[in-house]
Amino acid sequence: MASVAFVYHPDYLKHDVGEHPERPARVAAIAAAVQRAGYPGVHPVEPVAASPEQVERVHTRQHLTRLRQIAASGGGYVDLDTALSPTSYDVALLAAGGAIRATAAVLSGEARRAFAAVRPPGHHAGPDSAAGFCLLNNVAIAAREAQATFGLRRVLIADFDAHHGNGTQAVFEEDPDVLYISIHEYPLYPGTGAVREVGRGAGRGYTVNVPVPAGTGDAEYERIFEEVLAPVARRFQPELVLASAGYDGHWLDPLTLLDVSTTGFAWMVGRLRDWAEELCGGKLTLVLEGGYNLDALAASVLASLAALADLPPSDPLGPPHRHRPIEVGPIIAEVRRVHSTWFRG
Ligand SMILES: [Zn+2]
Repeated sequence: MASVAFVYHPDYLKHDVGEHPERPARVAAIAAAVQRAGYPGVHPVEPVAASPEQVERVHTRQHLTRLRQIAASGGGYVDLDTALSPTSYDVALLAAGGAIRATAAVLSGEARRAFAAVRPPGHHAGPDSAAGFCLLNNVAIAAREAQATFGLRRVLIADFDAHHGNGTQAVFEEDPDVLYISIHEYPLYPGTGAVREVGRGAGRGYTVNVPVPAGTGDAEYERIFEEVLAPVARRFQPELVLASAGYDGHWLDPLTLLDVSTTGFAWMVGRLRDWAEELCGGKLTLVLEGGYNLDALAASVLASLAALADLPPSDPLGPPHRHRPIEVGPIIAEVRRVHSTWFRG
């Protein structure tokens, strides 16, 4: 049994833009399930709001000012599907602060591993833009905090949300110290994340994209983890593993057509846990992204916490009813060809 920090705050319910899939009930369902489960080793940790200085390591000051002004003027939409309520600016700072708090718990030795159950999510938010339900890029802000405050250099961000984290990619695309690796359904919002998007300049090769077709499920994710993520992680030698933990790839999720089960998510988190143990003294923090079916979300977060705490996960929802195997061999081969430096020898 390992000690796991579970970061949550009831104020995460206060970002409320009405009828919307990214709704307060998401984290309320997670918090209730975690409390009911009462896993030994999992202990609650309270976040504090991120400071402007912490946020501005990732975002422009204009972006922050814009969000603050929209919230102060009563809220409103920043793109077709991303909105703020009057309290959303403060909640976004608390979400970024939650990712920071979870990462600090791991890096200070307060916990072995951590899960930040935050919202609004973050991985579509770029340096100067809010998008796709995301206002501030929580996982990116946590990565920069790990470098600035804890002196780390190499951070691996593994993104298993069903959507491509175009915001995270944009933040780090020229940075060889932060390796961003994403498995995502394609075609799907936001339309980025092709294999040929590999980073730019000094960061070339440090963005790894694995787009997968609708119907991709547990067995295919296992193959991609073992044949792409494992060799890349081992060669990169991170000092911290962060995960953009999105659960909208669950077969019950209404926003995507992936076929991942709760058991599949627990397996993935278990592998990230094992690699963190092997490569960086176990330092692993998961930051919540998407997941829009409340039952699937709560069950999958619980199963992830079980994996983090070295407990057996349970899967009350089972596997998808009609899963057909997807051939991911060609996409794996293409990724390995484009990123041949990671796979040599
Ligand atoms: Zn998503």
